[in-house]
This record gives sequence, C-alpha cells and structure tokens, in this order.
Amino acid sequence: MSMRSLSFIHQSLPARVVLGRRASDTVDSEADQLGLRRALVLSTPGHAGLAQTVARRLAGRAAGVFSGAQMHTPLNVTQAALDQVRSLNVDGIVSVGGGSTIGLGKAIALRTDLPQIVIPTTYAGSEMTPLIGETADGVKHTRRSLKVLPEVVLYDVELTLSLPIATTAASALNAIAHAAEALYAPDGNPAVSLMAAEGVRALVEALPRLVQDTRDLDARSSALYGAWLCGACLGACTMGLHHKLCHTLGGLFDLPHAQMHAVLLPHALAYNAEHIPDALQRLARAIGAADPIKALQRLSALCGLPSSLDEIGMPEAGIDPAMQLALADPYRNPRPVEGPALTELLQRAWSGAEVESR
Ligand code: NAD
Repeated sequence: MSMRSLSFIHQSLPARVVLGRRASDTVDSEADQLGLRRALVLSTPGHAGLAQTVARRLAGRAAGVFSGAQMHTPLNVTQAALDQVRSLNVDGIVSVGGGSTIGLGKAIALRTDLPQIVIPTTYAGSEMTPLIGETADGVKHTRRSLKVLPEVVLYDVELTLSLPIATTAASALNAIAHAAEALYAPDGNPAVSLMAAEGVRALVEALPRLVQDTRDLDARSSALYGAWLCGACLGACTMGLHHKLCHTLGGLFDLPHAQMHAVLLPHALAYNAEHIPDALQRLARAIGAADPIKALQRLSALCGLPSSLDEIGMPEAGIDPAMQLALADPYRNPRPVEGPALTELLQRAWSGAEVESR
C-alpha cells in the first residue's frame, strides 16, 4: 500500500481482549461484568471435560453445558443448542474451543443476540470477526453481522499447550493467511497492515520453537498474540483469491479447513505476486526472508504439514469444477482471476509443487 497519499476508512470492532497465562480463570468476573447469570458453555464432544471445568469456574453463573459443536456449524446442531438456550432460559454464551465451537456460539448469537465470551484454543481467529459460516443441506454460506461478534475474548495460553504440532502449525498458517490477504485487501489501511505484519512475525517466530517443544509457554503466548492480530485483520478487511479458493474447496470436498489454508497460501500468493510488491515486502520483513512465499512453504514443511491438496483428500478430477465455481463469483483480488491461470494454480497446489523463486 502506498503511504504517499493516505485515504481510508477503519472501523474498529468492539471486543474486550484478555491475553495471558490462565486468562480463562477470570471467566466468572468477565461474566459478571456482562451481567450474566445463566450462561451456556459450548464445546465440541472432545472438549466436554474442559467445558465442565469452565462451567465450574463460572461459579453459579452457568445454566448448563452443550458439548455437541461440530465442524462447519451444521444447522441441526445449532437448532439443538437453541432448544437448550430456551429451555434453560440462558442469558449468555461461553464458547471454549476452536473455530468449530466459536461458530456455534456465533450461530446462537445471530438468532438471539445473546452476549458471548469466547475462550479460543486454536489460532483460527473467528473470535475477532463479525463473520459466520453455516452449513445447511451440505452447502456452507458465509455472512457478516455485528450480532455475531463476541463481546469478550479470553486468550488463555495454558489451554493451547495440548494442541499437537500438526494442528498448531496448520492453524497458525490459517491465521497467517488472514494477515497476508489483509496486506493487499481493497479496504486495507496502514493500521491493519501494522497488525498483519506483527501477527505474521509473532506466529513465524513461534512455530519453529513449537516444533521443538509444543509446551513452550513463551512461544505459545507469542503464537496466541499473533493469532489475535491476524484474526483482527480478517475481521477488518475483505479477503481475496486465497480465501475464495478455501471456501470453494472446503464446500466442494469437505477438506480439513486449516490444512487447506496451509497448502494453498503459498500458491495463492505466487499467483498474485507480480501485483502485490508492497505486501510482499512487508511479509519479507515480518518473516525475515528475502522470498516470503518460499519461506512460508518451507515453514509448512518444517512443521510436517501436508504439501498438496492431494494429500488432504481432494480428487484430481475436482480441479476443473473448483476452478469453474471459484471463477463464477470471484472475490476482489489484486490479479484478475482467469480460468487457465487458476487451473494452473490448482494443479500446482494439488500436486504439491514448490513455488518458484522470485
Ligand atoms: P476446530 O475448532 O474444528 O479445531 C480443530 C481441531 O483441533 C479439532 O479436532 C479440535 O478438537 C482440536 N483442538 C482444538 N483446540 C485444541 C486444543 N487446545 N488441544 C488439542 N486439540 C484441540 O477447527 P479450527 O481450525 O479452530 O476452526 C475451523 C473452523 O472455524 C472452520 O469451520 C472455519 O470455517 C471456521 N472459521 C471461521 C472464521 C470466522 O471468522 N467466521 C474464521 C476462521 C475459521
């Protein structure tokens, strides 16, 4: 982005953010400040025990626990949770988990306007955005509403220690993708670019240390800080081709969300490279590498992430339908989105080709 002649709109999104070790211990006082007396704690089935712990920490302010959250926010799960919201006369939501659980909390808030406290345990960043994706009849729809933006976010470093390195790294690359696209977003601005560069720096600095030791508290805290900043970028800006492709492929082939981001990001950046010199310069500084696109691909490999869409379950025959769908309703993107070039991008990502040096 040129700094010569500034002109932008920045809408700060309201959220109270608490980050630190044992940050979720404050959930009862945060609930008290929101005036909650009958909160419903949400989680996936795998985090039912953690949800019970959070309910106990709410010290009399919890009305119940719903541990049925699933990936992609299916409507039938939201309806089951809404039944519990009504029958327990719930006055607020506490979501503890990754993007899947946070998505359920947002789906409830969309329909009830209940306040939300979110305790994220991955780096996906949904807690900082007014976006919600929901699945009905096998189709995922995304929309934007301030109703779904959480009121309070508690980033508890301790709760991320159990994330295996594969999930950690994929989730971190998911976060980095938000920041990377914010750096060339049509509605980006210098403040968002600062957050994006700092978010990328913090995550890239943390990942190699987490490969050595997933319980490194300082690295975990740096990664969570980076995830917050990258999530804020996603909340503030319109995303481009990379996010479009992830939404398209995720919907068509039900690919694992974070891993798909990790595989596609270097290829989407390479597609745009000639059109985003400023963004690449900022990424190069944040990452500390002359070729930031190659460096991101190398970082994925260092973390043992899959390198191809083939490895994460996309059929080769899916390249053409994916290209057609992505082309039918493209997001705004620095480089025009054209069929043959898009097919080439998808072929390279499908086979796990190395991005070329620049
Ligand atoms: P997720 O919530 O499904 O979590 C990924 C995996 O990590 C799951 O198996 C989960 O059980 C496990 N896990 C989570 N925390 C853990 C921990 N601390 N220790 C051990 N295991 C843990 O997925 P995600 O990647 O966090 O989020 C992806 C979902 O979020 C997608 O549906 C995506 O569309 C959505 N999302 C939405 C937004 C938005 O702004 N609306 C932004 C980003 C992602």
